Amino acid sequence: MKIIDLRSDTVTKPSLAMRKVMAEAEVGDDVFGDDPTVNRLERLAAEMLGTEDAVFATSGTQSNLIGVMSHCRRGDELIVGTNGHIYKYEAGGTAVLGSIWPQPLDNEPDGTLDLAKVATMVKVDDYHYARTRLLCLENTQYGRVLPLPYFGEAAACARKHNLKLHLDGARVFNACVKQKVDVKEISSHFDSISICLTKGLGAPAGSLLCGSRELVKEARRVRKMLGGGMRQSGILAAAGIYALENNIARLAEDHANADLLAEGLSEIDEVTVDHAMVQTNMVFISMKESTVPKLVDFLKKRDIWCLDELPMRLATHLDVNEEDLNKVIETFKEYFSQRS
Ligand SMILES: *Cc1c(COP(=O)(O)O)cnc(C)c1O
Repeated sequence: MKIIDLRSDTVTKPSLAMRKVMAEAEVGDDVFGDDPTVNRLERLAAEMLGTEDAVFATSGTQSNLIGVMSHCRRGDELIVGTNGHIYKYEAGGTAVLGSIWPQPLDNEPDGTLDLAKVATMVKVDDYHYARTRLLCLENTQYGRVLPLPYFGEAAACARKHNLKLHLDGARVFNACVKQKVDVKEISSHFDSISICLTKGLGAPAGSLLCGSRELVKEARRVRKMLGGGMRQSGILAAAGIYALENNIARLAEDHANADLLAEGLSEIDEVTVDHAMVQTNMVFISMKESTVPKLVDFLKKRDIWCLDELPMRLATHLDVNEEDLNKVIETFKEYFSQRS
């Protein structure tokens, strides 16, 4: 039986075609700068994002941390959303490893940060305060696509307050596909952009930090410090190149599948679908709290894996198709019909 895993879009397994390019990748020692496949991936990412350079990192967490630590020094501060991955899901790394203090700000309902509120968070030059240096945004944010005009406004705000601007673009290609724009229309507003190869793009490991030549030079030092200097990592980079070349346009299928799932589940009285959040490949649903563990168990026995959380996030990706999602909808309906 095929397992239908909706816990995250990180669960995808490399396809045969991806494994083939990995097996055949030309490699060298990347710490010496000798791995031709890593170099090719970094050039490709920089070209796509329109930045001068890019550096291959082990994970999105590392790529964000490298970005923050390259922009900021010990005792500096970054402004970040309370729902931002950098603030909430990276074990406090900016503070723990960088001595860089996060100033959190609640995300607006559309996933943005209110720039008027950002301005009030920027500290004046006074020795009581940390030095505010960086503003971090995220796109997509919980599957939501930030509006395009917002990026220019955010960049103007950052310039006005002498801040650098970083994008956690783990799923920025989902946003581009949804808005039908080239990624440069988003990336051009930022001083650094982190992209993940392991989410919807389907690679087994790796992220890239993209930015100016100067920033990436510093980033390579920080990456080494954090233990992210890899050796014959061309094997992983080959998967990344394959992902960037083959798996972006097809994200539209994941978005269509999320719509299908949202529509199907909204037919169940006991389930509430948050329709405003269904913009790319994620569906958020809620139900009575005590139902969740029982439902998750019921689904698991039928080879459907979901997280025991409320609201429950269901992610669509490369390894689930329309037929799988119809099975998911039917299985949800079966659970609730037995209990009404
Ligand atoms: C997944 C993710 C990351 C990075 O996660 P890793 O698991 O460390 O690769 C960063 N930001 C966002 C928004 C993410 O979804």
